[in-house]
Amino acid sequence: MNVLVLNSGSSSLKFQIIATDLEQIKQRKDDRIAKGQVEGVGGEAILRIRYRDQPVETLTAALRDVGAVLDYLMRYITSDRSPISEIKSAADVHAVGHRVVHGGELFTESTQIDDRVLKGIEECIDLAPLHNPNNIKGILAARDLFGKDVPQVAVFDTSFHHSLGEQAYLYAIPYHLYRRHKIRRYGFHGTSHRYVAFRYRALRGLTRDQTNIITFHLGNGCSAAAIKAGNSVDTSMGMTPLEGLVMGTRAGDLDPAIVSLIAGKEGLSASEVDTLLNTQSGLLGISGLTNDMRELQAELKEHDDRRVRLAVEIFCYRARKYMGAYLAALGGTDAVVFTGGIGENSPDIRARICAGMEWAGLRVDPGKNQETVGSEGKFSTEDSKLLAYAIPTDEELLIAQDTVQVIRGVPHSS
Ligand code: ADP
Repeated sequence: MNVLVLNSGSSSLKFQIIATDLEQIKQRKDDRIAKGQVEGVGGEAILRIRYRDQPVETLTAALRDVGAVLDYLMRYITSDRSPISEIKSAADVHAVGHRVVHGGELFTESTQIDDRVLKGIEECIDLAPLHNPNNIKGILAARDLFGKDVPQVAVFDTSFHHSLGEQAYLYAIPYHLYRRHKIRRYGFHGTSHRYVAFRYRALRGLTRDQTNIITFHLGNGCSAAAIKAGNSVDTSMGMTPLEGLVMGTRAGDLDPAIVSLIAGKEGLSASEVDTLLNTQSGLLGISGLTNDMRELQAELKEHDDRRVRLAVEIFCYRARKYMGAYLAALGGTDAVVFTGGIGENSPDIRARICAGMEWAGLRVDPGKNQETVGSEGKFSTEDSKLLAYAIPTDEELLIAQDTVQVIRGVPHSS
């Protein structure tokens, strides 16, 4: 089954075409045909597409919306110019899997999209006003292009965390605010946390029930999850992705009184402060330089800039605090798993986060840590009681696999 995986944002769209089916999933023989992204939707857009391991192809076109993007993309893919021989016409796309940011309390698992589901995703717009509308546009555009008979599946960022208990998801604010407005913690990056938990247990030959870990997704957005018997029991992002760890441009945890204080002192509206906390803070805000961890580390090596050092220190300290908190929440655990651009590729940041955790039985093997870059592997010492793993995430693959499993009516394997 050729699955088109779509992640549609406000002015960008990421996509992959993955051929997979139940047997291929079981044998890990999923076939990644092509991947790419489109930036600058709404104006002169740039489309980058890569077929298997061939070089990236770059195309430009005026594309006003996601419908125009999909139309252009399919015309290119099915044309003689394209090397993608597996897709000769739109009929060769057998299903579409969508990343949907917010499923609220309505969607606890990946779901085939029909009018009722679409309405449910619309109802969650209040909870994710910046994201869900774009996801809906992607769904409608795909329906227009491929027709109603091509099944579409929504895979929610929030649904893995539906297993959080009330004590973990409720804020200590007047309870009627939860009842009236559904103000509570939902958590995000669920597809990534679920994927790495699945790979961890595959690597160790464990069952889902035996999977007790803390996962750190450290990319531009960052979050941690406490996983007990395969279920998420706590996670660091909250009602929105702003809560929790320090991120590229997001502040993470802070005293909520600061919001009105900044608004008053800087003459900003509440929503402008919200934007500041989401886009001007985190690594970028502290360093004053960049949100990009790789650049910060290069800068640190060259100049040892004080604010760059502080940004990295605060980032790692916050992550370590969450590790401690989740060890308490879980009553101890078996392993800590790192993923995302930073978690997969930066032995230095992993070592800094794990530093001083020997009391909990976590010892990093410096050699193994350096070796495990962009690949799956354990990097704790042999005598470590709390293991450390790096596992590259693959949200698109999980979306494709969920899509197939939902359509075939079997429970998802992870
Ligand atoms: P997104 O959350 O947008 O998917 P990624 O998961 O790709 O982003 O993570 C992006 C972050 O990963 C950036 O801060 C980038 O600098 C960082 N990163 C990527 N490679 C490395 C590396 N080798 N060392 C340190 N940081 C890295």
